[in-house]
Amino acid sequence: MSAHRLGIGMTSQRTRERLIRRLREKGVQDTRVLDRIRETPRHLFVDEALASRAYEDTALPIGCGQTISQPYVVARMTESLLEHGPLEHVLEVGTGSGYQTAVLAPLVRRVYTAERIKALLDQARQRFGTLGIRNIVTKHSDGGLGLPEYGPYDGIIVTAAPEGLPLGLVEQLRPGGRMVLPIGHDEEQVLVRVTRTADSYAREILERVVFVPLRSGVC
Ligand code: SAH
Repeated sequence: MSAHRLGIGMTSQRTRERLIRRLREKGVQDTRVLDRIRETPRHLFVDEALASRAYEDTALPIGCGQTISQPYVVARMTESLLEHGPLEHVLEVGTGSGYQTAVLAPLVRRVYTAERIKALLDQARQRFGTLGIRNIVTKHSDGGLGLPEYGPYDGIIVTAAPEGLPLGLVEQLRPGGRMVLPIGHDEEQVLVRVTRTADSYAREILERVVFVPLRSGVC
């Protein structure tokens, strides 16, 4: 593997710092999250042809019509999830490239991540192996149904947008647990944080976002 691919080059360090500055300017404050974004080699989560753009604050294609999330959105979602105290067991719906998973994993005890497209999941698994991240459990499944076998969860993060709030996922949160997810269709999506209470839930709208849609079934 070349030095460029490993991210050893000075350019890579500088571009990573530029990305961190930009995320700070956009309001990301949690230094644990910013440190994780700085240390996670995003160029390993995209095709080699796009590696030179990996530290731009934009979503990029990862094949199968899907995208790796924009670093700002990854940072914002991770920060919102962690805001009210530490989390142990977290479910992620939509592994995609595995980038969000890799940013989050060192900040919690264990991440259970579900992806419906096997080809993407296989690549993500290889990346977790290469990076030596061991606290991730991957599952090829329709994550819209959650992974009840490992729940209840302290946190859930959904990286594809359902049209409405999936109550089946809310039920897999323990009381006090929280879920961050985009809701809506096409250009009309908002990022929402749902906090489960003993017998109900509360929701806060965070900001407007654009995600690929949550789809049912596996392929
Ligand atoms: N966080 C990922 C984002 C990938 S895009 C990253 O940074 O790379 C969203 C992903 O959600 C896609 O890979 C898509 O296949 C997946 N997805 C959509 N609906 C799903 C479902 N019901 N269950 C599991 N994964 C789903």
